[in-house]
Amino acid sequence: MSWFARMSGVNEPLVARMREFGTTVFAEMTALAVRTGSINLGQGFPDTDGPEGMLERAVEAIRAGVNQYPPGPGVPELRQAVCEHRKEHYGLLYDPDGEVLVTVGATEALAASVLALCEPGDEVVVFEPYYDSYAAAIALAGAVRRPVTLRPDGGRFTFDPGELRAAVGPRTRAVMVNSPHNPTGTVFTREELSAIAAVCQERDLVAISDEVYEHLVYDGVEHVPLASLPGMRERTIMISSVGKTFSVTGWKTGWLCAPAELVSAVQRVKQYLTFTSGGPWQLAAAYALRHELGWVEGLRAALAGKRDRLIAGLDAAGFTTFRPAGTYFVQADIRPLGLTDGMELTRRLPELIGVVAVPTQVFYDRPEQGRRFIRFAFCKRDEIIDEAVGRLAGLRREIG
Ligand SMILES: *Cc1c(COP(=O)(O)O)cnc(C)c1O
Repeated sequence: MSWFARMSGVNEPLVARMREFGTTVFAEMTALAVRTGSINLGQGFPDTDGPEGMLERAVEAIRAGVNQYPPGPGVPELRQAVCEHRKEHYGLLYDPDGEVLVTVGATEALAASVLALCEPGDEVVVFEPYYDSYAAAIALAGAVRRPVTLRPDGGRFTFDPGELRAAVGPRTRAVMVNSPHNPTGTVFTREELSAIAAVCQERDLVAISDEVYEHLVYDGVEHVPLASLPGMRERTIMISSVGKTFSVTGWKTGWLCAPAELVSAVQRVKQYLTFTSGGPWQLAAAYALRHELGWVEGLRAALAGKRDRLIAGLDAAGFTTFRPAGTYFVQADIRPLGLTDGMELTRRLPELIGVVAVPTQVFYDRPEQGRRFIRFAFCKRDEIIDEAVGRLAGLRREIG
């Protein structure tokens, strides 16, 4: 018997509401990649650095002594830069004093929002497959997920507005929206966002809008922020971060914009989670938003090319692929290979051909909805993608 079990009479130290969350599939797949020397197209982080000027700004800030607690809402330069960016790109006006909150990545913005808004037993609508931290944030709040499934339709993943409406009940408090969407690569159209907006307004819901891939959209597709739709600014928490836009996922510096009442509620929670986030990264993020969006244009073009390279390889290997309009990810349907279970395939893939992917089914409340899909990340150097494509070419032979 462990010391904990002796002391408490309970076998498991972890609280019940978090027990459904085991070690993430990313940890399992990364360990498998290391053990087998595989190419890891499982985890979505870039293998090249962000813009030099931005990196330099962080170093300078540390050397200049920006090393003590920044203000709780975030350093003024970053709050100002975020507001300028929102205005310039989307015509959305936010007040840097009171309508912006800097967070420890988008992840903290999401968790603090759910914790601030939901009483135990309240419900939150999520589109499945969803980013894994959504489910955990909802569970931490003691709230309940109401999933709406995104399904393939015309080569992309989308939802049925009727299902969305049916998922909302008297205890529904919020809907979590992610566009551009991880892991399907869907960028919601204005029509899709309008359907979400209509439900939010009819049922008086808050929209928690995760837009971390706002700049990573391809083929001229436009990212439309949910808050820019009529009647939505007043009920939307718009979230983004420096990680994906500027290829620094390790910096964990994010922000949210919302009406003052909502920001103040979220800040009440955030101040006791982390109080504030790293000062040097905040200054560098402000610099990047003001001076490095040209660099992001180059990143976007490069990623579109990487996407096409990987898709060509996956198609040649026998998968059916879904060309993403945004994000780092492509979904591949495994059924044309005569297979049905993505979990089984992703566990075998490293041994078979030395490539790691992620089973999409782990992002669902109803895993059967996503059993046939696996997710590949293409935010890697071209030579890595080419090597993966070469290995994938042997897949059909290996599975026999
Ligand atoms: C990467 C990612 C996040 C996390 O962003 P951080 O700024 O690193 O916390 C949130 N949502 C989605 C959809 C992501 O892909």
